[in-house]
Amino acid sequence: MNGPPGRLAQTVEFRDMAESSIFTRILAGDIPGEVLHETDRVFVLRDIAPKAPVHLLVIPKTAEYIDVVALAAAEPDLLAEMIEVASLMATVHADGDFRLVFNTGMGAGQTVPHVHAHVMAHPQGADSHADGLTEGSLGDA
Ligand code: AMP
Repeated sequence: MNGPPGRLAQTVEFRDMAESSIFTRILAGDIPGEVLHETDRVFVLRDIAPKAPVHLLVIPKTAEYIDVVALAAAEPDLLAEMIEVASLMATVHADGDFRLVFNTGMGAGQTVPHVHAHVMAHPQGADSHADGLTEGSLGDA
């Protein structure tokens, strides 16, 4: 009997990687990362390769959920907490307005199989928003 075909097989492999996701290892202190904020269930990391003037990641401490669909189905209150923390971070580290992106699936650009929200914003007092917030594009149409 062959294993699950195509996308399902890929998803199973992707999920296996979550156990030791880079975010879990940063939270454990095994590798460096700039953690800006923490609650009992959520932490915030500055993105190492920013795609916006302010680019933060809001991440549940549990690695149980591969993406936002799985999280929303199982623990909507944890998803709500992530959004609350995203809003707080946009107030503290930016001008209060923000874009929230959940890349969902490898085809949409998700590289870390541990659900996380990208918070993209402009700093307080930025004189120009002309650079835009480019993250969120899936490439050329
Ligand atoms: P995604 O492609 O949606 O899965 O997002 C993963 C994000 O994690 C990317 O924006 C990466 O730049 C970011 N990232 C990867 N490694 C690190 C790290 N060590 N510290 C902070 N951010 C990271």
